[in-house]
Amino acid sequence: NRKVVLREYISRAPREDDMVLVDGGTVALRVPEGAAPAVLVKNLYLSCDPYIRGRMRDFHGSYIPPFTPGSVIEGLGLARVVDSTHPGFSAGDIVSGMTGWEEYSLIDKPEQLSKIQQNDIPLSYHLGLLGMPGFTAYAGFYEVCSPKKGEFVFVSAASGAVGQIVGQLAKLHGCYVVGSAGTNQKVELLKNKFGFDEAFNYKEEPDLTAALKRYFPEGIDIYFENVGGAMLDAVLLNMRAHGRIAVCGMVSQHGMTDPVGIHNLFCLITKRIRMQGFIQSDYLHMFPQFLSDMTKHYRDGKIVYVEDMSIGLENAPAAFVGLFSGKNVGKQVVCVSQE
Ligand code: NDP
Repeated sequence: NRKVVLREYISRAPREDDMVLVDGGTVALRVPEGAAPAVLVKNLYLSCDPYIRGRMRDFHGSYIPPFTPGSVIEGLGLARVVDSTHPGFSAGDIVSGMTGWEEYSLIDKPEQLSKIQQNDIPLSYHLGLLGMPGFTAYAGFYEVCSPKKGEFVFVSAASGAVGQIVGQLAKLHGCYVVGSAGTNQKVELLKNKFGFDEAFNYKEEPDLTAALKRYFPEGIDIYFENVGGAMLDAVLLNMRAHGRIAVCGMVSQHGMTDPVGIHNLFCLITKRIRMQGFIQSDYLHMFPQFLSDMTKHYRDGKIVYVEDMSIGLENAPAAFVGLFSGKNVGKQVVCVSQE
């Protein structure tokens, strides 16, 4: 059972060699007898998500505890049940939930798994479009942004797992939508595939405040924040009165010991802006509605989806690290096995 383990805690940007592929020995393809009800799964697809970086730090104050050095990396994944002593699951079921970055995992809290009904939609999409990132976009946009038709919406990290869905939901809602991304290829994708009204490469803009002014001459009503730092500062100066900022993530600030200072927070007062952080798991009551809406949008061709698939467990560390330099084009997943 090959597995990817964390070498030791880090306090800087992650590197591939912070994780190591080890041989965990032969797996008996049965749940051990006498153990509490558990499920043994064969992992098929793993999700690379920015929050995993937070679990590589020796920091216990977050909403999710850190990993233990030497132990397998955990994350969301899709897997096939090989053996189960839990009444809710049987061999052959396809499940999603927290699993290990390894070929086989023994899941000792099977209650956190959900069964996936396979249909015409590719299975791996349940880690993005129909999974946690898609749901983050859905809950964040409808519940936190309080959108109205015709409003001006800005999305950062717009071509990523969350951003691409936020932008498309905002378009479906009748908003004017601009996205930022870190390469010209991603900018093309935003305009020509995801249907954003405009998009720009933030790395080529010497003055972000001026760039936003160009794209939003009348100001921004809604900012879906994925990156933080200098972009947030520039957005604050370009917000309209009574605007909303949904703080989903700040990927540029992850794990920084000295985060970039924000200078323009006074705009919250002068422009009466509501800035609200959120975590998707607080909205899980909306998940069934989300699944039904997104499945329909996808089938109707109203939402498209781009994922970046890395093949092989051994490539998981590189795929994950790539999130922090923008190597991924769309939602980053790793295929461990297709069956
Ligand atoms: P993405 O698929 O968007 O991948 C991360 C992207 O972030 C990269 O491709 C890169 O795109 C961009 N990026 C990386 N480093 C920087 C940087 N220094 N400055 C600016 N952009 C950078 O990831 P997700 O869609 O999965 O996540 C997006 C955000 O949402 C993250 O902040 C994440 O933590 C957050 N999140 C929050 C959740 C919640 O419940 N609150 C749930 C899920 C995600 P580019 O090439 O455009 O720079």
